[in-house]
Amino acid sequence: MDVESVIAELGGAPRRLLIDGRWVPAVSEKTFDTINPSTGAVIASVAEGDAEDIDLAVAAARRALEGPWRRFTPVQRQNILLRFAELVEKHIDELALLNVIDMGVPYSWQMGVTRGGVKPGNPVETIRYFAGWATKLHGETVQNSLSTPLHSLTLREPVGVVGAIIPWNSPLAAPVWKIAPVLATGCTIVLKPAEEAPLTPLRLGELLQELDLPPGVVNVVTGYGETAGARLAAHPDVNKIGFTGSTATGREIIRASAVNMKRVHVELGGKSPDIVFADADLDVAIPGAAMGIFANNGQVCSAGSRIFVQRPVYEEFVSRFAEEAARLKVGDALDPDTEIGPIVSRAQLDRVAGYLESGPAEGARVVAGGHRVEDGELAKGNFVAPTVFADVRDEMRIAREEIFGPVASVLPFDTVDEVIRRANATEYGLAAGVWTRDVGRAHKMIDALQAGNVYVNTWGQVDPCMPFGGLKTSGYGNELSGHVLHEYLNTKAVWIRVDD
Ligand code: ADP
Repeated sequence: MDVESVIAELGGAPRRLLIDGRWVPAVSEKTFDTINPSTGAVIASVAEGDAEDIDLAVAAARRALEGPWRRFTPVQRQNILLRFAELVEKHIDELALLNVIDMGVPYSWQMGVTRGGVKPGNPVETIRYFAGWATKLHGETVQNSLSTPLHSLTLREPVGVVGAIIPWNSPLAAPVWKIAPVLATGCTIVLKPAEEAPLTPLRLGELLQELDLPPGVVNVVTGYGETAGARLAAHPDVNKIGFTGSTATGREIIRASAVNMKRVHVELGGKSPDIVFADADLDVAIPGAAMGIFANNGQVCSAGSRIFVQRPVYEEFVSRFAEEAARLKVGDALDPDTEIGPIVSRAQLDRVAGYLESGPAEGARVVAGGHRVEDGELAKGNFVAPTVFADVRDEMRIAREEIFGPVASVLPFDTVDEVIRRANATEYGLAAGVWTRDVGRAHKMIDALQAGNVYVNTWGQVDPCMPFGGLKTSGYGNELSGHVLHEYLNTKAVWIRVDD
């Protein structure tokens, strides 16, 4: 793949919307620019879809659902998904490159995630996993206890037209996590990518066009959240919304769903505790906790951002963890040596910079980073040094609010019961981690921690066969695994009198 030629081509005509199997400009003909956060340069101009475009896409998705797509057999849907996986695999370098230049995920990290077959989170494997499910969906026959002879059974039917609204922090995985189960279950979809990173989802739309899918099964409408996203969430002919994003927007989506009682599943924010006990193997816990907060520049909903460390190892942990953070190389995401790329946008950079000020102002000790990085060319991008705040107290903003940047808060603790209480004292419940060699204590923590995902002596594992979802204001419903299929299927109860 020639990086320069991919970038040059993106600079050509504006990217269009995929509606009803055709690439079309927005009805308003408006466009917006998408920017490389490493350099501040405009990469491409993209159609700015609005309510009217969403309406066209939903109508196309409805026609496909009630027309040719419903006649596709499970094995045909399975084969479509297997061919989609092949195409994604063939174009994986280009898709990864789009993530790197549009969102700023470091090239080295992106390649670790997407290359090499069975790596965790690999989108190709995720698509193949859901291809398998397409032929294994079924209802059940149930023995009832009524006196009249009746057969009773359940059917699983596609929920219908799905609106998927996704964030910018994983522009390849997020659309795949929605599109693959939608195709497996026989639903149709209108995908609304995030305005900060629309290029990878659009390229996936192009690949889907190479399959023999009926027009309208997959539609991709780029545009802003308050316009295109809000219309999709409120649309009376959309049966279901799958949303991944902030807790504030998740609340809006749930409110909007009341219009027609849409089914909804939401995967939202977090402020996840990562707990290091004094008996932990620090050689494992320190790099593990560092990955937990610094991977993808901390722009991960399940980032382990509140690191509780037991007092006997607290000072050792803080100094070694700070060294680990300081060692990470900040730079242009395209540079293969870069470990920490830019923050996705100026607006997001300003938010993160606000926490770099509020931490010390509230009394936290800066032991690594704590500032933007503006050396030479980097001044044009949105760079923040990996930051470690020590001596953080629970009431500080950096301990309570989701920062979504490479900023770790380290807090000392003394006892097991104390750390359980403090770890759970948050509105969020997405992830939690425990580092200990005591198996009994690990199990006690697994039971006590209020989180949808719990990691013991590891962090952030993802595999298509495991569910991923949150508790409390981190949302409800699961992504991935057999669990997500329930999100896209209705259950119909059928009674048949056994009598001629
Ligand atoms: P973030 O803070 O990570 O950008 P958001 O929740 O604002 O998270 O964005 C996630 C997705 O939700 C994006 O695709 C965005 O365009 C969309 N979005 C934002 N506001 C709304 C809204 N009011 N209704 C529907 N979608 C929205």
